[in-house]
Order: sequence, then C-alpha cells, then structure tokens
Amino acid sequence: MAVDTMEQIVSLCKRKGFIFQSSEIYGGLNGCWDYGPLGVELKRNVQDAWWRAMTVEEDDIEGLDASILMHPRVWEASGHLAEFTDPLVDCTHCKARFRDDQIEKEGQCPSCGMKGTLTAPRKFNLMLKTFIGPVEEAASVVYLRPETCQGIYVDYQNIMTAMRRRIPFGIAQIGKAFRNEINPRYFVFRSREFEQMEMQYFVKPGTDMEVFNTWRDKRLRYYAELGIRSEKLRLVPHEKLAHYASAAVDIEFEFPFGWGEIEGIHNRTDFDLRRHSEFSGKDLSFFDDQTRERYIPFIIEASSGVNRTLLAYLCDAYEVEQLENDTRTVLHLHPRLAPIKAGIFPLVKRDGMPEKAHQIERQLNPYFRVFYDESGAVGRRYRRMDEVGTPFCITVDSQTMQDDTVTLRDRDTMRQDRYPVAGLVQVLGEKITSWQRP
Ligand code: ATP
Repeated sequence: MAVDTMEQIVSLCKRKGFIFQSSEIYGGLNGCWDYGPLGVELKRNVQDAWWRAMTVEEDDIEGLDASILMHPRVWEASGHLAEFTDPLVDCTHCKARFRDDQIEKEGQCPSCGMKGTLTAPRKFNLMLKTFIGPVEEAASVVYLRPETCQGIYVDYQNIMTAMRRRIPFGIAQIGKAFRNEINPRYFVFRSREFEQMEMQYFVKPGTDMEVFNTWRDKRLRYYAELGIRSEKLRLVPHEKLAHYASAAVDIEFEFPFGWGEIEGIHNRTDFDLRRHSEFSGKDLSFFDDQTRERYIPFIIEASSGVNRTLLAYLCDAYEVEQLENDTRTVLHLHPRLAPIKAGIFPLVKRDGMPEKAHQIERQLNPYFRVFYDESGAVGRRYRRMDEVGTPFCITVDSQTMQDDTVTLRDRDTMRQDRYPVAGLVQVLGEKITSWQRP
C-alpha cells in the first residue's frame, strides 16, 4: 500500500510536469532529477517560504549566496576530506554496491540474494571532484560542495563587518550541494545533486543550548504552519554525534516508505570557526567591545533540504479521495506552496465568457500565478486543478455577465461561493494566508 502510494506520487509528478528523471531519453542518470514547469514553481515556493521565514520574519539574519566551488583547504578544515565517508559494501557476485546500513539481512546481498558474497565495509568519500583551470592534475582538484554551510563560515566576518552585526546573528543560504551517494533512492529523497536551505546562527558560548532549543521548536512549528499534519512529524535526537556537534536533533517526516530526516538542528560548537582560523591563519574570533570579552562564537545550525522537504509536502498533500460516485486525486498543498494559485474558467466558450475570464486573468496576474483553461467540461477542469494542488478555481458563468460575480471553488471542500469580480485580489490573498488544512 505504502509503496503503491509512492509509485503513484512519482507517476503523478511525471505526468503533471513536476519532476522528471534526468537525461531520461539516455536511460537516466541515477540520483539526478529535473523539475518541470509545475515542479519548478513548487520548488521556488518552498525556497521562498523558507527565505521569508529566515530573512524577512527574523530581524537578525542576513542572506548569502556563496560559490559552489571553494578553496580545497576548506574541506581539510571542515573535516570532510577525512571524515565525510559512508561504509561501502560490494557484492562480489552481482557487483551491486550498498551502504552498510542498507543491508537488512546480515551477510546477504539485498540485490541478488546470495549469501557470503559481500565484502567487508570500506570507507567511501562522498565528495564529487572536478578540476579547476586548464590542467587536470592533483594540484587543481576542487570539490563540489557537499553542504552549503562552509560558505557561510568562511564569509561570516565579511558579513558581520559589512552589515554592522554583532553576536548573536545568523546567516541564511539556499544553494546546490552534491554528494556521491552510494545508493540514491526514494525518488528525490536521496539524490546526488540536491539543494540545501541552511541557516547558521552565531552565538556566545554558554548561550548555545538555549538557542539550540529555540530553533528546534521554531523549525518544527514551521512545517506545521506550512500545512504538514503534526502526526507526520517527529523530533529525533541523535545518539551518535558527528565530529563537529555537541547536540543534534532531526526533524523527521513519515514518508510512504517510512520515517526520514528532512532537517537537522545541530549545535556545532566552535568547531568550524576554530578549524577555519587554524587552517587559514585568520583570526575568526569576535571581540565584544561592551563586555571586553573575546571568544570564538558557537554555531547553531538549521539545515534542511529543498527537495526532501518538497517531497514531504507532496506526500503529505497527496490524497485519493473517495467521493459519492467517484474518486478524485487531490494535493492539499498549502496555497502558499501551490504552483498555481487559481484556475480561471469560462463555463462555456461563447457569450463573452472567455473574454471576461481573460480579463480576470489579467486582473490577478500581477499578484498570483493563475491558469486559464477553457477545454473540456468544467468538472474535468476542476479535477485537473485538484490533481496539481491548485487551491481555488474561478468560474465565469451566465450570472457573471449580468452582475459581475463569479463562483470561487475551494479545492479541499469543493464548495463554491459567489464573489464580486472587483474584490478577487483581496479575497484570494486572504484565503491564501488564512488557509488551514481541513
Ligand atoms: P542522511 O543521513 O539522510 O544522509 P544527513 O544527516 O547526511 O542525511 P545533513 O548532512 O544533515 O544530512 O543534511 C541536511 C539536510 O540536507 C537533510 O536533512 C536533507 O534534507 C538534505 N540532504 C542531505 N543529503 C541529501 C541527499 N542526498 N539528497 C537530498 N537531500 C539531502
């Protein structure tokens, strides 16, 4: 059942232009995905919601867009060259490769089922390499960043000075990251090219755990505010901590294939800035001129994935609803995330209705992404919008031509109410912000 749901979501994503396999006509490239017309809108809305929550709604967080390629010493300092490995196991029979923790029955290959054909695990570094400059030699090796936050650490002093900030303050960034995952799987949940949304908050040592707890709670609330049902979310503290962390908790979502991390909140201590000070020779400490104290700030990070959270929103929104004589597929996406905010339909293709509907389209266009559709029965048009998560449909009918009102249909309840055309911008705006999952 659960696996079927996942297959249905993957199939809907392809059919409706959300997500395609990368390079599909060449047989695909494992672990890479393309976002189609509706997927790219959804992805931008996921990013915008996060960016807004971090840089607009918080008054002490600055934005950054650092480069993907960084000085190779960054990855020595961060510990990635030595530590960013997964245990790789080979099957000597079928040649399949696995991450050690993906082997469910000890000693048995999950792919061909043979026993005694698995090698001992060996360390496999997940960083993707390339060369910079015209010569392909060891000295010109650079890495595609496996996480975005290192760009924040190495720019932290520039930002603090340029923006006249003091500790505490935060830096937020959205950008691509790359990991040569041994076994990309579960659709976009684990891919080799993905995007992260990371916020690093710089604090005075001693205040770190309080700030950690605040961000943990804030980030959990954030997903609920964007419509994810609370029973689908849980906090899971790490038992085994990464080399840089003193406390860590994951926010997990219950996907059709099981619980999986969508965001990690970590107390990274002063590890990163201390190491970058050491490796670069630049003093990255902060001098508080009011208390006359000098210290290396601790860092609390909230690190999430665009693609993974997008998949969580999709999975949580997906429903095949049983109606009286029919079923309908519907995505109950939060209207802020929905790729299209409103469908606009003339009931029939005559009597001035298409012209009126186009006029409404022009009226709403500056504020919302809307979609004009005049093809097929209006019931079919509603269903098409339900399936891609469009929260509202506006229909021009014969009454519109007399009193300038339209019907506004709600995706979730399928209720239709009449509203004056003149007030549509405001009505939609209010409905989008006040939406609650039914
Ligand atoms: P996992 O244990 O699942 O490999 P992680 O603990 O290594 O993840 P982090 O390094 O904490 O993940 O990365 C922060 C966030 O980046 C994750 O919560 C996830 O949303 C996203 N992310 C990490 N790796 C991938 C990936 N391969 N594909 C898609 N998103 C990813």
